[in-house]
Amino acid sequence: MKLGRFTREGTTRLGKVMDDEIVDLTAAGLGTSMRSLITNFPDLRPQAEGADGPRFALSDVILEAPIDDPQKFLALGMNYKAHADKAAAAGITVPKTQLWFNKQVSCINGPYASIDMPKVSEELDYEVELAVIIGTSCRHVTVEQARSVIFGYAVADDVSVRDWQFSSPTFTLGKSFDTHGPFGPWITTGDAVADPQNLRITAWVNGEVRQDSNTSDMIYPIAEQIAHISKVMTLYPGDVLLTGTPEGTGIESQTFLKVGDKVRMEIEGLGAIENTVAPEAA
Ligand code: MN
Repeated sequence: MKLGRFTREGTTRLGKVMDDEIVDLTAAGLGTSMRSLITNFPDLRPQAEGADGPRFALSDVILEAPIDDPQKFLALGMNYKAHADKAAAAGITVPKTQLWFNKQVSCINGPYASIDMPKVSEELDYEVELAVIIGTSCRHVTVEQARSVIFGYAVADDVSVRDWQFSSPTFTLGKSFDTHGPFGPWITTGDAVADPQNLRITAWVNGEVRQDSNTSDMIYPIAEQIAHISKVMTLYPGDVLLTGTPEGTGIESQTFLKVGDKVRMEIEGLGAIENTVAPEAA
């Protein structure tokens, strides 16, 4: 199933995407909170599966971030082999363990919304990533159990402001500018993804391919990521984990984003997001 949030005639609702249409799940009695739908999904699944209308053309609605209020929005750095090898060759220290950092939830943004060119930086960059959405409250999850706590997957851009990212010992500020966490276009539930570690993952800037890899190139697979983080903290339904980006980001070629640039990202089977860079509002 493909579950998302959409706005039509000024109200935002939950929806189920079927081909090029979206079925209104709020009208079907499933509420307005994706986090709550995920929390109660074992009970609500039949109702969501059976919902049949009203339905709208995707082209007639605005798709929003599939979850607007996760409790956590964490991201893993340097997790693709080819990317890490290139960094090591350039003299950058590659971490010996999983490098997790926070993106503040206030940076979450829609799959087709604009992203801000910061007033305070010219080093705006993109990173296509597979987003994992947690389905079950869990702690001390084993690698073998990890798949069972995943609700689904989506496409994300871990938008980064490089000078701010590297100007302090934590990445938090450089990864958390308002609008710098677009994801979507919807959540594809885990049962609909045969092998999340074998998906083509691609990013274009103004139509030019910049990143083109496969999730099979991850150094730490998703199951190891969940096992590692859950040693520390309870994961909750709706928490979003970004799982690292492949080579080809702007910092590698010193080609940063400018106002007007269109960044498109696609992951096999999960859809695409597209965000245009706009000046930060006054
Ligand atoms: Mn990243």
